[in-house]
Amino acid sequence: MKELNIENLHIAVDGQEIVRGLTLRVPRGEVHALMGPNGSGKSTLAKVLAGHPDYQVIAGKGLMDGENLLELEPDERARRGLFMAFQYPSEIPGVTIANFLRAAMQSRLPEGEELEATDYYAKLYEKIELLGMDRSFTSRAVNEGFSGGEKKRTEILQLAMLEPKYAVLDETDSGLDIDALKTVAHGVNSLRGPNLGILLITHYQRLLNYIVPDHVHVMVAGRIVRSGRKELALELEERGYDWAREGALESAYTR
Ligand code: ADP
Ligand code: MG
Repeated sequence: MKELNIENLHIAVDGQEIVRGLTLRVPRGEVHALMGPNGSGKSTLAKVLAGHPDYQVIAGKGLMDGENLLELEPDERARRGLFMAFQYPSEIPGVTIANFLRAAMQSRLPEGEELEATDYYAKLYEKIELLGMDRSFTSRAVNEGFSGGEKKRTEILQLAMLEPKYAVLDETDSGLDIDALKTVAHGVNSLRGPNLGILLITHYQRLLNYIVPDHVHVMVAGRIVRSGRKELALELEERGYDWAREGALESAYTR
């Protein structure tokens, strides 16, 4: 099955259980939004999918196209086609975006195979054009002194260049002004398609006005309490997370 399949996942950090029986499927070609109040465990889920060593998987499964993700090293997960954009991306002073992306792409090639500079730049400029960015952007150091919007743009460019099978984008909208939000949304919308599954993690509904998801899931206290089509995001906006929490109680009692 071509999907990211998370089944009954339990995750602990420092002995405390944060994700508590989360089940979620993201087929390739679809955009799924994962919403939830602060502290519900959204970023914890993203970090575990990426292979962060501080988080312990207590139980459950995480499969990508049927393959167990959780036993692979982080770089191996990336090479198999998983892309993560984190809520707080790192700065890499002294390394330009162009060189960083080139190294990232080179590392995905089989041993002994060389990434041709001309091919690389052709692709880089094609993607820059597609995303409506400026070429000069790629000669800046990765995230160094970047605004929130510029950091997100860097990640969208990475996503475009690496062409993963699945992308997990954590709070791609936090701290963005409306123009930056539109740029990010334009980027994601031009990259979505049958070959890419996207898990879009967001606290706010507003990003979903620009990136319309195929499915919406609401996470409260470590598990999914409601799932639906795009209208669920609007309902949530109207009724608030307390309404979703009632769902959490219901599901706790009916389990
Ligand atoms: P969200 O992204 O939904 O806001 P997080 O996954 O960041 O939620 O956090 C969920 C809970 O896990 C919070 O209570 C947070 O304090 C806790 N948590 C997350 N990471 C760590 C960590 N590295 N050490 C201790 N507690 C953590
Ligand atoms: Mg978070």
